[in-house]
Amino acid sequence: MEIYLDANATTPVLPQARAAALAAMADDFGNPSSVHSAGLKARALMDEVRERARRLLGAPAGARLFFVSGATEGIQTAVLSALQALRARRDAGAALPPLLLYGATEHKAVPEALRHWNALLGLGLQIVAIPVGRDGRHDLGWLAAQAPQAGLVCTMAANNETGVISDLDGIADCLRGSPALWLVDGVQALGKLPLRLAERPIDYAPFSGHKLYAPKGIGLLYVREGAPFTPLLAGGGQEGAQRAGTENVSGVAALGAVLRALEDGDSFRSAAQLGSFRERLAAALQQAFPGLVFNAPPALCLPTTLNIAVPGIPSRLLLDLFDAGGLRVSGGSACSAGKAQPSDVLQAMGLPEWQSASALRISFGPADDEAFIAEACARILACGASLRACGDRLEQTIARRSAPASLDEATSDGDETDIALPWSAVDALRQAWPRLRLVDVREPYEHRLGGLPALGLPLQALPLVELAGALPGWLAEEQALLFVCRSGKRSEQAARAARRQGLQAWSLAGGLALCPLSPLSPALRPAGS
Ligand code: PLP
Repeated sequence: MEIYLDANATTPVLPQARAAALAAMADDFGNPSSVHSAGLKARALMDEVRERARRLLGAPAGARLFFVSGATEGIQTAVLSALQALRARRDAGAALPPLLLYGATEHKAVPEALRHWNALLGLGLQIVAIPVGRDGRHDLGWLAAQAPQAGLVCTMAANNETGVISDLDGIADCLRGSPALWLVDGVQALGKLPLRLAERPIDYAPFSGHKLYAPKGIGLLYVREGAPFTPLLAGGGQEGAQRAGTENVSGVAALGAVLRALEDGDSFRSAAQLGSFRERLAAALQQAFPGLVFNAPPALCLPTTLNIAVPGIPSRLLLDLFDAGGLRVSGGSACSAGKAQPSDVLQAMGLPEWQSASALRISFGPADDEAFIAEACARILACGASLRACGDRLEQTIARRSAPASLDEATSDGDETDIALPWSAVDALRQAWPRLRLVDVREPYEHRLGGLPALGLPLQALPLVELAGALPGWLAEEQALLFVCRSGKRSEQAARAARRQGLQAWSLAGGLALCPLSPLSPALRPAGS
């Protein structure tokens, strides 16, 4: 069983939501714009889900709720609406407030939308990040001082990387008397925090279905009554001519099933239960990785999110380790061209560089249960044990892995045709090369945790950095080699290096992540592991 701890990135689809989507595709497949019975049925379904969403979000009468493709579309629409209203005021001769403000830890969709529409509409307003403190919360003193000069203020309800919950009432106080419209990205709050939209002067709030057990491609945009609105999509007049395009009825049906589950309270755990799950995960992490630090104060965070760092251990290493242990988590830093980029969010919070370079996000969903958390804790402990078993070699490994480029040099010397093979090619390869050996080039702490399928090939575990020493021996023995790793990257480097030495060598494309066979054959594990 895979333990999926990356719910802030996306979630699986709830069984009820799957069933509702299938039923909508099979039965209520009419076009909601059609006036015949099939169309009327589809429209009724959409109306019902919209009403349910209105109740759950605490949306006041008169507010509008649009079905959109996801939060990115909702954010675009809200930003376009606010900026188009500012442009209209400017065109009418009014002086504009010069600032567009967004929280420094906002999802990229917000500052990028601000830049895009500010340029496209020719507004030339100044886009400025609202600083956050070391705890990830907005600097309200700064905001109160700047708000009178702002035309739009964008602040998320809860952060996707750290789970830090914004002080929306504090922000509302800062905005009192300001001309600014207020956009609150509600993506990570949906189903976890009450947003009380009727009680707060929020003008726009986008939501995304796939962060809460609905499929990708469906979301909601809340627009306060009287807030300016400009359609992003013009066309066939759907959604009251405010968001054109034939509606994603099956997505709406699935979202409706999730919202029903939220209202019924049967499928989702309470905030208190989720908080106790997080405490158990935090305790397991602290036991597995002594010295671990929390990158944001858990008391200020969503009860489903932990962002941690382990001194001296880069997030990439932890990610590989957890993946080998069957735990899917997220690195706190983006990886580009093999080089870890520290997270913008953690940098904005002023964390020391090592801490953002070692960050790991662990996020679960409100539908996860006791047994899931128990299994997650057990695996976290196994990961810690596997790392400790490396003993003194761990420091060397970290140093080597931060400079692993030596094998990549002179890539053009060897024959590189068909170097990365799909898993389906293994049988044919084994028959063509009786002296074929499988070489797992992951680090020992990954290999020890298993994850390799039984391919019926002799297995050798040899981390990539030790490959050069083994090549002459393999050459003398006329070995053919099939390399494997987690994602196919390290194994491809190994296969290239082996070919440069004149060996027959391949890599399994996509690595263990794409393995179609059942993993973990204990018989294949080296003795004593
Ligand atoms: N806002 C936040 C806080 C998010 O976490 C995400 C997704 O990662 C988005 C916006 C974008 O959502 P979508 O994937 O629905 O476009």
